[in-house]
This record gives sequence, structure tokens and C-alpha cells, in this order.
Amino acid sequence: MSDFFHLDARVPGRRLLQSPGPTPIPEAVLHALMGQPMDMGDPRVDETIAACEAGLKQLLQTAQGNVFFFISNGHGAWEAAIENLVPPGGKVLVAGTGHFSESWAVQAEALGRRVVRTPWIEGLAIDPQAVAQALHDDPQHSIAAVFVVHTDTSSGITSDLAAIGAAMRATGHPALFVADVVASLGAEPFDMDTLGVDMAVGASQKGLMCPPGVGFVATSARAFAAAQANPAPRYYWDIVARKSELSYRKFCGTSPQNLLAALRVALGLLQQEGLPQVLARHRLLAGLVHAAVQGWAEGGTLGFFAQQPARRSNAVTTVTVPPGTDVDALRTLAREHYQVAFAGALGPLQGRGFRIGHLGDQNPALMLGAIGAIEAALRAQGLPLGDGVGRAVRRLAAGE
Ligand SMILES: *Cc1c(COP(=O)(O)O)cnc(C)c1O
Repeated sequence: MSDFFHLDARVPGRRLLQSPGPTPIPEAVLHALMGQPMDMGDPRVDETIAACEAGLKQLLQTAQGNVFFFISNGHGAWEAAIENLVPPGGKVLVAGTGHFSESWAVQAEALGRRVVRTPWIEGLAIDPQAVAQALHDDPQHSIAAVFVVHTDTSSGITSDLAAIGAAMRATGHPALFVADVVASLGAEPFDMDTLGVDMAVGASQKGLMCPPGVGFVATSARAFAAAQANPAPRYYWDIVARKSELSYRKFCGTSPQNLLAALRVALGLLQQEGLPQVLARHRLLAGLVHAAVQGWAEGGTLGFFAQQPARRSNAVTTVTVPPGTDVDALRTLAREHYQVAFAGALGPLQGRGFRIGHLGDQNPALMLGAIGAIEAALRAQGLPLGDGVGRAVRRLAAGE
């Protein structure tokens, strides 16, 4: 019987969620979800929205930017970027970095935009020169925007936004710089104003430690002006119509009060810990997973998908497995018997690897538990392995 209550059966202790989204939700955030609805005119609603806007602006490190929310997941926020910034039939350059960049490109095509792609080279981060070359090859300036996925959650690769932005600016091409920070916000340094990003695209259920359901974009003045000038027909996603002091306008209808209450608390937790400390914690935890993968790789069959060590994500690690490995069986064993849930590989990588999320409400003990359980599942499947757990433990003790 797979009724809801059966699926929801209590797990002794807790099941670790090592997915790169959705991620575990802190207790304080769960509690914030439980409030009774308020009258839409209650000033507390506006206050909650304002706190979420301010907290996100701080996290995105933008003084100038405007934040616009949608009741959506990341795909909704992607659609907002496409519909607001790219005119009907217009062109967008999508920098190839894996399954997520390709999905965004396909979505833009489905919405009638023309897509120029830079090649996705497996295992490598975005090549800033390839982006610059594609802009260079567009002397008519018909490319309205460049879409860059900061951390490609399928590849476990974080591209260098500063280098990409610099390469773009060096061409003199006026295309808008749009960054998907769905998987990187709260895990990697991101400074929207310094990077010169015109639009940042995010969602609530990854580094922000909330349930899925709130998508958002933050815009520079240039991006907002482009949206104002864009004749693309749109309604729900139209940020121009959303620019208002009225919560009813900001959300194109009823605001998701409980989700916003949760987001406010989550942003407060990040602020309390301190952004530098949050980023340092993610680096530390990623280091533990990287140490474990290095240990496992000594068995001769497992490895990193990301070939450039400096570009390995602080949010998620993609581990390659030998052909014939039953990744689904591995995940089921780990989830159902060892109580650790991790992700499979996506798109063209499906069946060739798995992904360990180390994003959001995580700490060293949780990570070591997860690494140990995953190593047990790998051993139970008969994969030859070096000592991953030991390496991770030694890395933690060495305080590197
Ligand atoms: C998860 C993710 C998305 C899509 O978000 P959904 O909420 O699943 O629609 C987009 N981009 C990146 C980088 C992601 O990690």
C-alpha cells in the first residue's frame, strides 16, 4: 500500500536528505510554515514581503536590484527571465554547462525564442572565451541576453561568473547578463552588483532551505528597462506589472503567506550565521565529500565528473560510476535501508553517476553519516572502493 500515510511512516532517527534540492528544512523554518492565514490587508503581510525582499537583496549582494517573486519553482523563474528579457522571436545565448543550461535553452525555444548555444564540454565549466566569441559573431547585436547557469546541478560544476562577465564586457556587446543562482545562492560567493549581473534567477528549495514554491528574479536597472521595452505578451510573469507597493500587485494575486514566513525565517538564519560563515561551511562540507570521492576513486572505478578541481561545486558533487552499475538500486538501498537519500544523474549523464547534495541545512556530522551510508551502499553493490569515509574523517580532523 503506497497511500500517503504509508509513505510518510516515521523513520527512526531521521532520514538524511542529500539531494541538491529540495534540501532539508530547519525546524524554525518548518514552524514558520504553520501560521494561520492573514487577511490580505494585514500590514504583517507587507512586512513579511519586505523582509524577504531585503533579505534576498542582502544575500544576492545587490543594493540597486529589485526582487520579484513568483509562486513557482525554478522553471517558473526561468520563464520569467525569458518572457521579460527576450523579445518575441528574439535571440538568447545559452552557455552550455550541462542538463540545466540545456533545459533552459529548450524552454526558451518552446516559448518561440531563438537560441544560440556555446558547446557543452562534459566535465568542464563554461569557457568565457566561447561566450565572448558567440557575442563577437553577432555584430548586429541580435542576442538580447546571455543565460548562464552558475552551478549546474547535474554536472556539479560552478562556472566563473566574474570571468564570464569580464569576457562579455570586453566584446562591447550590450546583451544582458542573466545568472541562474538556483543551486548556488547560499553555497557559493555571489555578488550581483560587483559581477555586473543584470538578472539573478532563484528558487526557495535549495540553499534557501525552504519548501519549493517561491521563485524569484532580481533585476538591475538595465534589465528592468529591457523588460519595459519588451513587447512580448505576458501577464503572470510580467515584472513590469509586478513593480508596485501593493502586495496584491507584487504577487499578481494572493501572496503565499506561509512560504514567505518560512523564507523570512530561513533568510534570518543565514544572516544570523553570517554569509562568510555560511559559505565557509559549504566549502568545508564539499571538501569532506570531495575527500570521500578521492578515497573511493582509489578502487579504480569511481571518479569525479567535474574535471577541474577548482570548479567543483560547493553545493553538489557528481560521482561517476562504471558502466552497468545499477544506480537506482544503489539509491533505493541507501534510502530504504540506510536512511540516506541522494540523487541520480540527469539527462545525458543518467545511469553514469550519482549526485551527493551538500547544500543548505547541513553540518559535518550529517555529511559524515551520509558519506558512510553511501559508502556502505556502494560496497554492498560490490563496487571496488578505496577508503572514502576515512579520508573524509581525516580531512575534517585536519581542519582543512
Ligand atoms: C533545481 C534547478 C533548477 C530548476 O528548479 P526547479 O525548482 O526544479 O524548477 C534550475 N536551475 C538550477 C541550477 C537548478 O539547480
